[in-house]
Amino acid sequence: MPTQDKPTQLEEVKNAVVNLEASALVDYRKEYSYLPVLGEGNYDADILFIGEAPGESEAKSGRPFCGRSGKMLDELLEHIALDRADVYITNILKDRPPENRDPTTDEIELYTPFLEAQIEIIQPKVIATLGRFAMEFIAQEYGVELNGTITQVCGRTYEIEAGVGNLTFVPLLHPAVALYNGSKRDVLKKDFEVLKKYTK
Ligand code: URA
Repeated sequence: MPTQDKPTQLEEVKNAVVNLEASALVDYRKEYSYLPVLGEGNYDADILFIGEAPGESEAKSGRPFCGRSGKMLDELLEHIALDRADVYITNILKDRPPENRDPTTDEIELYTPFLEAQIEIIQPKVIATLGRFAMEFIAQEYGVELNGTITQVCGRTYEIEAGVGNLTFVPLLHPAVALYNGSKRDVLKKDFEVLKKYTK
C-alpha cells in the first residue's frame, strides 16, 4: 500500500527526471532552458494517453501536447466529448530531442522507468498510445502480439492482464500525422471513437 498520495508520488517522479544527469537530452534541456515534460491531467483518470516526446512548445511550457499536435489531440478528444481534464497525457521521453528527431533506443531505456512509475501510480484502465514508439514500448512491456503495423492495428483493442490490474491497450496513430496527411484525420477520428466505451 503506498504511503503517499498520488500527487506526491508523481512529484517524486518529476523530481527524479529534473535531477537526471546521464542524458544528452538533459544537457540540451539545460542549454536551451527547456523544461522536462512529465504529464498533465487527472491522476485518477481511466484513460492514459502516451505520446512520443515533447516538441519545442512543450519543452518551453513544460506541458504535453500544447503545440500543433496538441491542437489536433484536442480536436480528437472533443470529437468523443472527452475533456483533457478527465484523462492523463504523458510521453515516452520526458525531454525534447533536438529537432524533434526520433527517440533513440538508449533514450527510451533511460526514460521509460519514469513512465512505468506513472502507470503504476495512476493505474489507468485504458492505455491509448499515440504513434509507433509508444505503441511498440507498451506492446513489449506487456508482451502483446500486435500482428501488424501501426496503420493496420490502430483502433484495435488488446486486453492485458497486468500487475496493476486488467488493462485495455489501444494503439492509435500520432495526431501529428493528420497535420501532414488530411485523410488520416478521419482515420484518427474513427479510431478515437473506440475510446468512447471507456468514458464515464
Ligand atoms: N508530440 C508528442 O508526441 N508529444 C507531445 O507532447 C507533443 C508532440
